[in-house]
Amino acid sequence: SLFSVHGYLRHRPVKIHSFIRSMASHVVGYPRIGPKRELKFALESFWDGRSSAEDLQKVAKELRHSMWKQMSDVGIKYIPCNTFSYYDHVLDTTAMLGAVPPRYGWMGGEIGFDVYFSMARGNATLPAMEMTKWFDTNYHYLVPELGPDIKFSYSSHKAVSEYKEAKELGFETVPVLVGPVSYLLLSKPTKSVDRPFSLLSLLGKIIPIYKEVLAELKAAGAKWVQFDEPTLVLDLDSHQRKAFTEAYTELEESFSGLRVVVETYFADVPAEAYKTIIALKGISGIGFDLVRGEKTLDLIQNVGFPSGKFLIAGVVDGRNIWASDLGASMSILKALEGIVGKEKLVVSTSCSLLHTAVDLVNETKLDSEIKSWLAFAAQKILEVSTLAKALAGKKDEAFFMANAAAISSRKSSSRVNNEAVKISALALKGSDHHRATPVSTRLDVQQKELNLPILPTTTIGSFPQTMDLRRVRREYKANNITEEEYMRAIKEEICKVVKLQEDLGIDVLVHGEPERNDMVEYFGEQLHGFAFTVNGWVQSYGSRCVKPPIIYGDVSRPRPMTIFWSKAAQSMTSRPMKGMLTGPVTILNWSFVRNDQPRSETCYQIALAIKNEVEDLEDAGIQVIQIDEAALREGLPLRKSEQPFYLDWAVHAFRITNYGVKDTTQIHTHMCYSNFNDIILSIMDMDADVITIENSRSNEKLLSVFREGIKYGAGIGPGVYDIHSPRIPTTEEIEERVRKMLGVLEPSMVWVNPDCGLKTRKYSEVIPSLSNMVAATKLLRIEL
Ligand code: GLN
Ligand code: ZN
Repeated sequence: SLFSVHGYLRHRPVKIHSFIRSMASHVVGYPRIGPKRELKFALESFWDGRSSAEDLQKVAKELRHSMWKQMSDVGIKYIPCNTFSYYDHVLDTTAMLGAVPPRYGWMGGEIGFDVYFSMARGNATLPAMEMTKWFDTNYHYLVPELGPDIKFSYSSHKAVSEYKEAKELGFETVPVLVGPVSYLLLSKPTKSVDRPFSLLSLLGKIIPIYKEVLAELKAAGAKWVQFDEPTLVLDLDSHQRKAFTEAYTELEESFSGLRVVVETYFADVPAEAYKTIIALKGISGIGFDLVRGEKTLDLIQNVGFPSGKFLIAGVVDGRNIWASDLGASMSILKALEGIVGKEKLVVSTSCSLLHTAVDLVNETKLDSEIKSWLAFAAQKILEVSTLAKALAGKKDEAFFMANAAAISSRKSSSRVNNEAVKISALALKGSDHHRATPVSTRLDVQQKELNLPILPTTTIGSFPQTMDLRRVRREYKANNITEEEYMRAIKEEICKVVKLQEDLGIDVLVHGEPERNDMVEYFGEQLHGFAFTVNGWVQSYGSRCVKPPIIYGDVSRPRPMTIFWSKAAQSMTSRPMKGMLTGPVTILNWSFVRNDQPRSETCYQIALAIKNEVEDLEDAGIQVIQIDEAALREGLPLRKSEQPFYLDWAVHAFRITNYGVKDTTQIHTHMCYSNFNDIILSIMDMDADVITIENSRSNEKLLSVFREGIKYGAGIGPGVYDIHSPRIPTTEEIEERVRKMLGVLEPSMVWVNPDCGLKTRKYSEVIPSLSNMVAATKLLRIEL
């Protein structure tokens, strides 16, 4: 059964923990998907009609029970509820407020699965609501759409029912709500709004709903409520900061009889915003991220902290999988204790544990030394409670000693340290790495070699990953087929893809990436310094989870990674075949990164490994090399003031991979996400010869930057059709798109390609789409 590992079935309701004042521990939020992605499978089965709503609810209930029990068992005092979600907690808040966009046809009343999942995933006739990144995490939330005339109504009682459910099971919990100001700041105005309108102007309309929720929670017996206001860590203007004062002043009367915590996370609270929250009167406590918030301790020390309020100290990292350095956490906690006193200090996680993996016990294949360095959510709550007990004078010496031993083994381990790599990576800092010849000259030289027609056509790398292909890789991994059989299958697949591209008339070919499961994992598995988990899943959105590699040590490349297949592919055609690599910044941003050195240093190490690969590809006769930086934008810090530094080293790391190649070698890069008009200068600074960029979903927002006069100066292929949809674009529509590009870009610089890789599409979609793409290009070439 589902949770027998945790003794779930044997569980009897426990008595509500008596609150011992000086042992306060708290958890901001907990992963919902379950230790083995139980929620994912239950959701997908329900969506496919293979199981009923009751089946789904039953799994959800078991998951919630198991989370509460785990936290209770390790001795967490303030256990969160309402952090579970069937899809997304911002969407839950939209449901709570009855802010359903009218197109979903909701008629009022308690919102059920039908309307809820239509907003989340779309239905037969309607697309889903827009989804976007939750701050700088890999979690995505559904963006509320609000208009000036919206009428809010209390339409999902989920927070209250979760609180009651926990209580019935014997757990006293803290209901967690997305705070009213963050909710509005994370929303967008509905499309139909034609007059200027401020989302914050809706504050007065949503506060009454929050009051209803609070009244109901109080009636149900809640003693504490947590308001998550992570937007407090962003760059806010005075108007936005004032909204917090207004909201919480307005809510004050509803707070009587309750203790309310305002929780912040993901960075320091800037000084001005700090002054705003410490001045809020009706609240009882404030939570801070003391892992990523490196200046918060100083602020608390220098600006002060209101006496009588609780300080929720987020010292256990919720964004990573590393075991805490408990000794270091204790010093921070001691310093805080000196300011607020024992009574008012609460030990917590830096943010919700939603962003880390679920339970290390399920990692049976991980090397035991590496495993001793890790803590997933289930282990992090134990760290929180152990720290709280130690502060209360009940230090678990054995636990602290084991932790200190793990921390010191991590520092000195030969698996982590590779002096040669450290030295070469450090040597890169501060110096510049640029290709010697300017891009315009390089493009001329390359054109002489490549002889490409005007408007060259290409694709982004992957071709459809069919069931057969996945099976071959799986069977090979499981040792069910021989290496020869595997090699033959991959070779056949490449052959097929090459032939198809030649038949379609594509100019610069790809091998289709059939040997790759994932663009980061494929490289991580071949590099030193990376570890992989079996169950280290983290929710990305809804039922979608990712399993990031763990970068634990100095990174090096023991042997070439892609040369064999690139050479094989090139030998099958006389057209140029792109070598296909993932860039260092993307590998970094899609992994759990070591926290014992700056991210930039780890990135430089990866850059050196990729540089070696680039040079080997060049030596193998590959003339065009694509280095994907799909996730470059994802690492952008939340605060403007920190962005230039990141962009500087990230772009530098990319240049390191290829500054040493010959002028005749054409370097491509690729990026997903169209919204980077703000970082266009950094993209130019990457100095690639050609960039292909997602473009079609954003209605050519990308082109506007060139319309404004930015001269890119290198080859550029804004995607001509959306690969996320099964829809086949027509020749006319592609022609129209390219025509628009030609209106703003130098024709000799324009490339024609889809938005992104084709791996999630079917051949029945890919073939006609690419065929129309080539047809449109040929029509346009006649005019040029
Ligand atoms: N080369 C990769 C592919 O085509 C790029 C994927 C991506 O940009 N996310 O699949
Ligand atoms: Zn892409």
